[in-house]
Amino acid sequence: MVADDHEHIHEHIHPDEPMISLEEVQKLVLERCGPLGVTAVAVRDALGCVLAEEVLVGSDIPPFANSAMDGYAVRAADTVGGSVELRVIGILAAGSPPPDVPVGHGEALQIMTGAVMPLGADGIAIVERTEPARDGFVRILDEIDPATNVRPAGSDFRAGSVALPAGALIGPAQVGILSSVGVVDVPVWRRPRVGVMSTGDELVDGGVALLPGQIRDSNRPTLLGLVMRDGHEAVDLGRVSDSADNVEAALRVALASCDVVLSSGGVSKGEFDFVKVVLEQMASELGGEYFELAVAIRPAKPLALAWLPRSPGSDERVAFFGLPGNPVSSIVSYEVVAAPALRYMAGVTSPLTRPVRAIAAEQLRASRDGRLNLLRVEAAFGPDGLLAVRSTGGQQSHQLSAMASANALALVPSGETVGVGEPVDLLIFGPLA
Ligand code: AMP
Ligand code: MG
Repeated sequence: MVADDHEHIHEHIHPDEPMISLEEVQKLVLERCGPLGVTAVAVRDALGCVLAEEVLVGSDIPPFANSAMDGYAVRAADTVGGSVELRVIGILAAGSPPPDVPVGHGEALQIMTGAVMPLGADGIAIVERTEPARDGFVRILDEIDPATNVRPAGSDFRAGSVALPAGALIGPAQVGILSSVGVVDVPVWRRPRVGVMSTGDELVDGGVALLPGQIRDSNRPTLLGLVMRDGHEAVDLGRVSDSADNVEAALRVALASCDVVLSSGGVSKGEFDFVKVVLEQMASELGGEYFELAVAIRPAKPLALAWLPRSPGSDERVAFFGLPGNPVSSIVSYEVVAAPALRYMAGVTSPLTRPVRAIAAEQLRASRDGRLNLLRVEAAFGPDGLLAVRSTGGQQSHQLSAMASANALALVPSGETVGVGEPVDLLIFGPLA
């Protein structure tokens, strides 16, 4: 199977329409975006945020030398040759203070993982390598070297060192580190507040019966999902009909309440495509910037961008991404243009996704349209351990079906065919099978 039915491979280039490359659009957008500002959030709310300042370690972690295993704390010198019997002087649980008396010659202290290393002892014999001996004694089977199974104080983090650098993306392990260090409120870059609206007279919500000409709004739930997936604050701005007044009213509400606005539809060449018209007019009226672009990618060619002052004279700019209406186009436009901008605003310093090299498991064909084709593919590791890609089906921009089973976009330049076994670049956005 090829990436598309042959009849759907488009062979038309419109030389009259100047197009801008994806790289140029990404540059244009990132030049106009930046981190939104620093805020303090509770550690448990910081997941997915970017640390705005480095976090230092106040005191050693672990705070004290402790046992790495359940077993017996011993004096290594007592175990030379192995198979020695030592007198058990007590038992120590994690969380208990160590005994005041040190472990003496010929003695052992039964100890649990995480319990404080007692004075006198310098190694741990694991319980699996011990045997019961005469009453009150234990047999240590192996010779124990000093420091065996002992975790020194500060062996994870030293007091005064950097626990996490500024710019660290806070994942689960980072949340753990911040908690270990004792941080309560974390300085992070604020999450962008991202409004999502749909435009189109044909759209309805929910399960109502469709009247002739109507379709259900799929872009808004999808885009809200993408924003949430990426850890930003998603705001549902609803559905707007195709009238300049309604679009303007909705965009003005968005301008007052969001950092970024994602709309879908109304940016193409149709008579009722008002998003681009209104954005342009608002930009000139409010003193903002407006770009009506034809991006040299398939899908997701049309794109309207604007940066508008939040209020007259304000330095604060709200970014508008007028994404195309076709469902696959709006997703692809989000992934390659809006998502990097949002990551950048959220404090990620290198927000662009780098392509990964894979092998075509079947022929992939790009339309000859002067555009970089972003084909919906499934990337999976083959038996040879290499990442291999197959088309997930119909590649037209209304076909969400192929998008849903894709975990990557294969980048195939206009008019090129990637043969079976040949290399192809991928943008991966889903889990790899
Ligand atoms: P437009 O860019 O507004 O001309 O829309 C292009 C195509 O995408 C048309 O077929 C629309 O019906 C469809 N479309 C626009 N918005 C949505 C939406 N929110 N959900 C599903 N399809 C949409
Ligand atoms: Mg429309």
